[in-house]
Amino acid sequence: SLLRRPGLLDGLDPEQRAAASAPRGPVCVLAGAGTGKTRTITHRIAYLVGSGHVAAGQVLAVTYTARAAGEMRARLRTLGVESAQALTFHAAALRQLRYFWPRVVGGRRWDLLDNKFRYVSQAANRAKLSTETEVLRDLAGEIEWAKASLVTPDDYPAIAARTQRDTPAPVLQVADVYRHYEEIKNSAQVLDFDDLLLHTTAALEEHGAVADEFRDRYRCFIVDEYQDVTPLQQRLLDAWLGERDDLTVVGDANQTIYSYNGASPRPLLEFTRRFPSATVVRLERDYRSTPQVVTLANQVIGASRGRPAGSRLKLIGQRPPGPEPRFAEYDDEATEAAAVASRIRDLLDAGVSASEIAVLYRVNAQSEGYEQALSAVDIPYLVRGGERFFARKEVRQAVIALRSAVGREPDGDLVTIVRAVLGPIGLTEQPPSGGAAKERWDALLALVELAEELAASVEDADLPRYVADLDQRAAAQHPPTVEGVTLASLHAAKGLEWDAVFLVGLAEGTVPIQHADGDDAAIEEERRLFYVGVTRAREHLSLTWALSRTPGGRRNRRRSRFLYGLIPEDHPAARVARSQQQGTGKPAPSKARCRVCGGPLMETMEIKLSRCAKCPSNVDEALLERLRAWRAERSRDLKVPAFVVFTDATLV
Ligand code: ATP
Ligand code: MG
Repeated sequence: SLLRRPGLLDGLDPEQRAAASAPRGPVCVLAGAGTGKTRTITHRIAYLVGSGHVAAGQVLAVTYTARAAGEMRARLRTLGVESAQALTFHAAALRQLRYFWPRVVGGRRWDLLDNKFRYVSQAANRAKLSTETEVLRDLAGEIEWAKASLVTPDDYPAIAARTQRDTPAPVLQVADVYRHYEEIKNSAQVLDFDDLLLHTTAALEEHGAVADEFRDRYRCFIVDEYQDVTPLQQRLLDAWLGERDDLTVVGDANQTIYSYNGASPRPLLEFTRRFPSATVVRLERDYRSTPQVVTLANQVIGASRGRPAGSRLKLIGQRPPGPEPRFAEYDDEATEAAAVASRIRDLLDAGVSASEIAVLYRVNAQSEGYEQALSAVDIPYLVRGGERFFARKEVRQAVIALRSAVGREPDGDLVTIVRAVLGPIGLTEQPPSGGAAKERWDALLALVELAEELAASVEDADLPRYVADLDQRAAAQHPPTVEGVTLASLHAAKGLEWDAVFLVGLAEGTVPIQHADGDDAAIEEERRLFYVGVTRAREHLSLTWALSRTPGGRRNRRRSRFLYGLIPEDHPAARVARSQQQGTGKPAPSKARCRVCGGPLMETMEIKLSRCAKCPSNVDEALLERLRAWRAERSRDLKVPAFVVFTDATLV
């Protein structure tokens, strides 16, 4: 059968091939970033289908982001597989629940919850808690963690206390908010994202006929990014599997970045304990990035503490060398953003396409500065993270209008109907000249383009189908694609890759994030997040930070501790790097001691000095000048004198 389809294992190395062509049954691929895990499972699906081991319709593949799922479907199509499902957990659950719902619940209808904060806010009110945005955000986060961890409101106080959750209010009160939230949500007949998974799991666990039908239909399961599976997702996966073991998982424990939200690499690392007959494959060759990026990635993750066995893999770069990673420090964030925009302009001019460039940041609020900086120089961009698109006011209005038009539409083609409904909301014939109005217009136009896409891909594309599609996209946080530079959080970037990646805002308090400080486990998760960022780059990698938030503001920000040791010694930024160690409270890791008391030095700058053999006191004047300037600057910043220690001479 392989002879009939020669291409299915082409382009895989021997280890990847072994995983892709392993017989049906449990398979586990443990490997680092860029080693081809996603590529391997895509080929595995194509191979199993192409060689007749399983029908395409019986395969269910789960990936972490909607974009990754879309890419996998596109890849499968080029490999000749049309109908295998590649979805996120949420999108898969949504699809299944729609199908099962009438049988498990009857006629009662439900909608997807559109504004979680409103419900959390009402719940907080009832629990007599503050409804400040920050508190609400943290409460919503706690509820999400609890649901993903299969913790009920009753169990919450004990478990949150035991696991030392950093809760926004006393645990009993958080439990109260959680309880009220569930009540309010249920009586409004809306489901949140986690409910999709919970209800689907319950349908499969409690309704034998539903489970039988499902298990008859789906027989082969593939999970990407398995290091970040939550107990709830694992429970759903187990419900899908039943007694069977036809499960392929791939992951990298070094890329666990959602453990604060309940995810755990344990199911990945303990896969063979659960399935002793599993085929286990390890991959080490990094096909994504240049050796420069790979070296940096190895350094970043090599510095991490307490890595579990099974995650200590070193990446070996396969690509030809490329440019050195760039490090740069700026006075303030606006200057940093403008510099990044200008560097992006250079890359565009050099022929790199906009969709091959990404700016990655730690928190979504950082996107704004970059949106402005890119707009200012007319570079198109899209903000990934979906919720921003579907949370836009005009998009919400549009979805409501489209939904209420269902059943009342003239039964015209879909695109015409959508245009007609969106007209009154602001989709004028001609685009507004610019500014916020143009942005709103663009968002509405993106909705029309989605209708065009749907009309082109399915025969009976009608309004109900389109609205269902929008729901699914909103649930999967899958915004329509706009050609442009990607702005995304580090979390949203996992699994993806770009030719050029800008990691921005690498300052203490942002990377690692403020609230991780002092919590070793949280710091390690922040480091893994940084590692995920570094490993997204194929070729160009730029790492930047700013010393103050606002122009002319206090220069009270320090570069990220994760940068320490990464910056080449001869780099202009390197000298500041060492001095910044002082700020983290740790002495510089230098053997040099104070010449007066013998104690560790707060700050040292080591210089290899070449002296003339005849006149030993003859030092390079230019170098001396630089040292004096450095000392003056550091002494001012540190408010204590800085010392320069020569390996073989002392400058007083
Ligand atoms: P991540 O951990 O970030 O999800 P991954 O292990 O899933 O990474 P992939 O995205 O599958 O890695 O592959 C990384 C890049 O390397 C992709 O561009 C892929 O096409 C390429 N690649 C993978 N395997 C090979 C190979 N054998 N030959 C050439 N290119 C490859
Ligand atoms: Mg991947």
